[in-house]
Amino acid sequence: MNKIKNIYMTFPEGRHKVLTLSYDDGKIADRRLVALFNEYNLKGTFNVNSGLMDLEYKESYDERIPISEYKELYKGHEVACHTLTHPTIARCPKEQIVQQVIEDRRNLESALGKTVRGMAYPNGSFDDQVVDIFKNCGIVHARTVHSTLGFAMPSDFLRWNPTCSHSNPNLERLYKEFSDLHKTQYLYMLYVWGHSYEFERDNNWHIIEKFAKEMSGHDDIWYATNIEIVDYIDSYNRVQFSVNGDFAYNPNANSVWIEVDKKAIELKPGSYTNL
Ligand SMILES: [Zn+2]
Repeated sequence: MNKIKNIYMTFPEGRHKVLTLSYDDGKIADRRLVALFNEYNLKGTFNVNSGLMDLEYKESYDERIPISEYKELYKGHEVACHTLTHPTIARCPKEQIVQQVIEDRRNLESALGKTVRGMAYPNGSFDDQVVDIFKNCGIVHARTVHSTLGFAMPSDFLRWNPTCSHSNPNLERLYKEFSDLHKTQYLYMLYVWGHSYEFERDNNWHIIEKFAKEMSGHDDIWYATNIEIVDYIDSYNRVQFSVNGDFAYNPNANSVWIEVDKKAIELKPGSYTNL
């Protein structure tokens, strides 16, 4: 009988941990937040409403970033939908749900020149019908507002629960715990979300500045946007493994990393690799 190999998916370069961030509403404090993420090489997904550009605002931090600025500002990060006008969408008729997502996608794609497939549920609102419609409108991941306070990978990217928001009192304990995780039998994810205007409103930029500094530059962490995680896992799922586990074919345009009996192996795009 052939010896059965232990073959596992890993993140790029054989890593076991991924850090991702998600910030909503596209208000002007995103400029400072993106600059901070860029300084520390963190990657985020920015969920924006393309139909609220002309909305009146009272507080200066409620001003929105013009759509014409998205392409340059969010370069290297993901821009995702947050619906056109931020309704509590589970209460909307299905015709409105379709337009809220498809028109938002259309506007963002025109501004960015690339496909937009992510989402954060506005006001955290969704139900099975909303998920179904979003999925049929090409959305492949959507974030909720339910904190898991844990590091498990999500079982459903269209109901993607984050670890916690940056305002959660457990944030620092959680990210230190995440940094200290050295076990390799699971893949781990730290997912922090929020709104950049909260740092202005609550005068607490120090929270995210400390986080960025302490979480930056860890060799064992993959820094990724939400869509990079989804696409990477999709790529892994397309890899064709031989029954014997002695070779694999990677049909994707990007490398996929696996671990075979604890050794990290890169499966190069469009080729067979002996394991
Ligand atoms: Zn929002």
